[in-house]
Amino acid sequence: MTNKEKSFIGLDKIETLSLLKRIGAETFRYEQIQNWIFDNFCENWEEMKNIPKDLRDKLSEKMQLHPLQINHVSGSENEPTKKFLFKTISGHSLESVLMYEKNRTTVCISSQIGCAVDCKFCATASMGFIKNLNDYEIIDQVLHLERLSKHKITNIVFMGMGEPFLNYKNVIKAAKFLNHKMGFGARRITISTAGIVPKIRKIADEEHQFKLAISLNAVTEIERKKIMSVTNTYSLNELIDSARYYYQKTRRLITFEYVLLKGINDSPSDGKKLISLLMGLECKVNIIPYNEIGGDFNRPDEITIKNFLKELRKAPFNVTVRWSKGTDINAGCGQLAVEAIS
Ligand code: SAH
Repeated sequence: MTNKEKSFIGLDKIETLSLLKRIGAETFRYEQIQNWIFDNFCENWEEMKNIPKDLRDKLSEKMQLHPLQINHVSGSENEPTKKFLFKTISGHSLESVLMYEKNRTTVCISSQIGCAVDCKFCATASMGFIKNLNDYEIIDQVLHLERLSKHKITNIVFMGMGEPFLNYKNVIKAAKFLNHKMGFGARRITISTAGIVPKIRKIADEEHQFKLAISLNAVTEIERKKIMSVTNTYSLNELIDSARYYYQKTRRLITFEYVLLKGINDSPSDGKKLISLLMGLECKVNIIPYNEIGGDFNRPDEITIKNFLKELRKAPFNVTVRWSKGTDINAGCGQLAVEAIS
C-alpha cells in the first residue's frame, strides 16, 4: 500500500511518530496534530495554524489527512435531517445521516459498504456486500459530522449501511475509540443488528456498556424468514434466547426495532403476538413505519398504525414510534444505498 492510499487518521501512534521523525518534525507536534484532529475536528492540514507551513506541506505531500472525503450533502441548512455522501480512498461511496431533535443531535453511521444480510425491505441490501469499513473509516464519519453539525453530537447509532455484527472487530474498535478517546458516553452509542446471534452472545460476554438494538420486524419464524433471510441461519427462537442471555448478563435493556409493513406484520393480532414473544424480557420496542424504497412493500395507513399501536400499548414494555426523519432526501431508516463506485 502506498502512502497515497492511506490517510493520516488511521495510523497508530508508532506509525505517526515515525512519519513525523522522517520528515524532521519534533515529537511534540504529535500532540498538537492530535488536538487539531480530535478536539478541533479540522478538515485539512492548512487549518493547523501552529504547525509551521513547511511541515504542513510535507505532511500533505505524504498523505491525505482524512480517510473519507465529503462528496455531497443533501438537506438544507435549516432542515432537521442531513445526509452526507462520503468517498473512501479506494473510491467507494457510503452515507451517514445527521439528525437534529429537540434535545439531542444524533448521527447514524455506516459500518459496511453495502450489506450481505439481504433484508427484503432495506435499500442497502440491493447493493450487495462490497466491503467492511475500517475502524478509522467508521470514526471519520463522526469527525466530519461533528465539524459540520450546528450542535454537539450527543448520540451515535450504528444504523446506517451494513450489518455491524458482520464487521464486529472494527465496529467495537471504533465504538471504544469514540467512547474512550472522543468522550461519547457508551450508553449514547447504540449498535443495531439484524440478529447475528453469536455476536449478540459475544457482546453480552464482553464488558462493553454500549446499547444494543435488535431489528425484529416479524413475530413468527415463517414470516421473519420471508422478509429477513438471516432467519435461515439464526432462528427467531435462537434470537430471542440470545436476547434473554444478553439481558441476564448485562442487565441492560434491549431495544427491539419493528418496521411496520402494510399487510405483512401490522395487524392487531401481530401486535398481540409481539407482546407474547417478548414476554418476560426487559426491553423497549421501537416501531418504524416503513420508508418507501420503491420495492414490493408499502407503509400502512394511519388508522392501521394507530390500531397496531393501541394493541401494543397493552404491553409491559415501553413502545416508541420512529417517524423517520429525512425520508424526502432518502435519509430515513433503510433508505441508504449508493452506487458502489461513482
Ligand atoms: N443491519 C442493522 C443496521 C442497519 S438497518 C440492522 O438490521 O439492525 C437500521 C434499521 O432500519 C433496522 O431496524 C431496519 O429494520 C430498519 N429498516 C431497514 N429498511 C427500512 C425501511 N425501508 N423502512 C424503515 N425502516 C427500515
